[in-house]
Amino acid sequence: MAQKPVRVRFAPSPTGPLHMGGVRTALYNYLFAKKNNGTFLIRIEDTDQTRFVPGAQEYIMDALKWCGIMPTEGPGLGGEFGPYVQSERKEMYKPYAEQLVKEDKAYYAFDTAEELDEMRDKAKLMGMPNWQYNSVTRTSLKNSLTLPQDTVDELLAKGEPYVIRMKMPRNRDIRFEDIIRGWVVVNTNNLDDKVLFKSDGMPTYHLANIVDDHLMAISHVIRGEEWLPSAPLHVMLYEAFSWDCPEFAHLPLLLRPDGNGKLSKRDGDRLGFPVFPTDWTTAEGELYSGYREKGYFPEAFINMLAFLGWNPGTTQEIFSLEELSEVFTLDRVAKAGAKFDPDKTRWFQQQYLRSTPNEELANQLAKLIDTSDMDVSRLTTVCHLMKERATFVQDILSEGNYLLERPTTYDEQTVSKKWKEETTQLMKDWLSVLSQLSSFDHDSIENAFKSFLEDKAVGIGAILPNFRVLLTGTGMGPSMFEIAAFFGKEECLERMNQGLNAIEKIKATA
Ligand code: GLU
Repeated sequence: MAQKPVRVRFAPSPTGPLHMGGVRTALYNYLFAKKNNGTFLIRIEDTDQTRFVPGAQEYIMDALKWCGIMPTEGPGLGGEFGPYVQSERKEMYKPYAEQLVKEDKAYYAFDTAEELDEMRDKAKLMGMPNWQYNSVTRTSLKNSLTLPQDTVDELLAKGEPYVIRMKMPRNRDIRFEDIIRGWVVVNTNNLDDKVLFKSDGMPTYHLANIVDDHLMAISHVIRGEEWLPSAPLHVMLYEAFSWDCPEFAHLPLLLRPDGNGKLSKRDGDRLGFPVFPTDWTTAEGELYSGYREKGYFPEAFINMLAFLGWNPGTTQEIFSLEELSEVFTLDRVAKAGAKFDPDKTRWFQQQYLRSTPNEELANQLAKLIDTSDMDVSRLTTVCHLMKERATFVQDILSEGNYLLERPTTYDEQTVSKKWKEETTQLMKDWLSVLSQLSSFDHDSIENAFKSFLEDKAVGIGAILPNFRVLLTGTGMGPSMFEIAAFFGKEECLERMNQGLNAIEKIKATA
């Protein structure tokens, strides 16, 4: 039999921003499609109108775009299987639900919410806290299986509210093989008669999801583990419609850094890291922070996410999206929950920052500051000097601010511990050596420095920290010869004079 073309979908419900677990689901779908020359599409599952959040769909699309994992079919993207928003497909679902009723695989249920609540309360009193509408209880409830046909017809004709429920067979083992979890077997006695079609005229998630996966020719359903309990019902629905069942792959949960429970949207800002790809502000004005706004590169974020539940089976950790698409397979996805590691996440970002060309970093930096009186080549050197010490582009500024602006303070520790009686004179002599240099590049300064140490018979420790504090005000940083060369002679001498004055004053008042 010819293999079906690979078509996978990411099917978020627009009930809020996209959690990073959702981005990982989208990513694995994207990678699986790329690896198998397939299609990755997005379908918005908005059949539960009570949970609809304005702006969520736009947020999801924008976040996927930022991550670089755009689907090729979806709302606003086109595709021959559209529309890709379930509320726009509303009319399609009812005939499918009715078909199942006709075939005695589903039924109309007329019980009101109050009647069902009453049943639940009664059951609770009798020591059964988990009352369900199922193959046993349905026999004594108000539905088309218990009521005479003419009563049913009458109720329908009168427009009495009803739902359509799945008629679960009794005592049947449903089995399917999940690509990640292996064989899953569930007995139908443990399943209830789920609502397929609601009284508001909308399908439930279950019905719409199956109908759409079928109509959109989905070959593999790759989704979060929280949907595993729904899978047996879905398998039953495929069977009821006599449709081919797609393959299932349920991805492991994302856990909190301590491994204690699912990573929830509240954890992030509470534990000091974002849980969302980009910032999200709720209607009430509450802000949830995002990776983009924190300064993460999308490549680093995606690389980190790829490793939350998957590994390539080698020691390589840095992968571009392109490379991931070549090596990704579902059989390397773990069953166990994946612990989120904020430190590792920062590590990925550091690696990407370090491997970004300085010119590119400088362009990004230029967007953060007023560069009207500075050329980008100077910023490029700033990036070269500071990137090893930075995690985010903005750190280059905060860590290396002294490269762009003169110091206003002088590191206390260096001044009190390293600046000795004789230092002032030594630094004046060193200043005079520098002022006589005809070329002011790294090597010339370093050579002059070495000769100066010999002449004065002093060690590096007597000069270098003090030279640094004079020029930069700090006690630590990149190579002083590079820094001095970056400033150029004039700026270097001016800074040294300014520093000498300032430190003299500090020492005088100490
Ligand atoms: N709409 C579901 C969600 O919000 C989709 C689950 C699935 O992929 O089947 O995650």
